[in-house]
Amino acid sequence: AGKRQLSGPLRYDPALDSASAQTLSLLTELRHAVEHHELRLYLQPKIALHGQPGLAAEALVRWQHPQRGLVPPMEFIPFAEQTGFVRQLTLWMFEEVCRWLATPAARHLPLRVSVNLSTRDLLDPELCHRLAALLARYGVAASALCLEITESAIMDDPQRAEAMLNRLSEHGFKLSIDDFGTGYSSLAYLKRLPVDELKIDKSFVMGMESAGDDALIVRSTIDLAHNLGLTVVAEGVETQAILGHLRSLSCDEAQGYAISKPLPAADYLVWQTRQG
Ligand code: C2E
Ligand code: CA
Ligand code: CA
Ligand code: CA
Repeated sequence: AGKRQLSGPLRYDPALDSASAQTLSLLTELRHAVEHHELRLYLQPKIALHGQPGLAAEALVRWQHPQRGLVPPMEFIPFAEQTGFVRQLTLWMFEEVCRWLATPAARHLPLRVSVNLSTRDLLDPELCHRLAALLARYGVAASALCLEITESAIMDDPQRAEAMLNRLSEHGFKLSIDDFGTGYSSLAYLKRLPVDELKIDKSFVMGMESAGDDALIVRSTIDLAHNLGLTVVAEGVETQAILGHLRSLSCDEAQGYAISKPLPAADYLVWQTRQG
């Protein structure tokens, strides 16, 4: 069979006879991508808005596809979640971050990198062991990593998520609730979880300077997080005006295009150095 032209992983390809052949083919491609080093680690800086500037970043995957160029995660993560392949992707990402943290340039810096977990990872009884084994292999401390779990992934199966978060927290990982505000968790429930950070969903942050309730939602989320003793991060900060507004609301940290786009891992420390 000749190489087929890819226009989008989930689009119908008449050269294949069924939807399951499509699925199989993308799965094969993703496996190939991991084995042939086509996935790339990108890091997006997170900055402190008050006090001591720490060195923090979120790890985001990109697929450097030989034909299609740089493929954004939204074109393959949902598929990877449906098929369960995302568990391998999480391990790939976690190992890549550990490897990077162990490099001579990064090893002695007080860095903290956030890695995204998926719903599937929360159901994997082997997850803690596997992550701990990778930390040991690279000599990286669990406290150098923060694990981001979306509010909706937690609310999918709250009891199970709570048990998993407890185990991860006992291993020393920092934990963050991602896309906060979109998953309908209750306050009582939130209080029980061993999390360190709330990350306000970018849909609210991006709308802060427009009419409507977004600024109010951001302000109440910041207050809620602080009342629970949690660090609060705003993501999707696209303008200096929003950055200033967040600072005046005592938000702790910010991440977004106004600060920096996600960078190839090799460029992150260069960016950091330029910040002085
Ligand atoms: P997320 O975890 O909510 O990540 C934040 C997304 O917002 C990233 O998109 C980031 O590039 C984007 N972003 C950052 N600043 C701004 C901004 O100022 N404005 C706007 N409009 N967007 C901004 P990205 O890298 O395309 O990733 C999309 C989603 O894919 C992530 O959302 C996450 O759910 C998933 N993802 C990415 N990498 C991984 C991974 O390694 N594992 C897993 N499980 N999911 C991943
Ligand atoms: Ca995230
Ligand atoms: Ca998010
Ligand atoms: Ca998101």
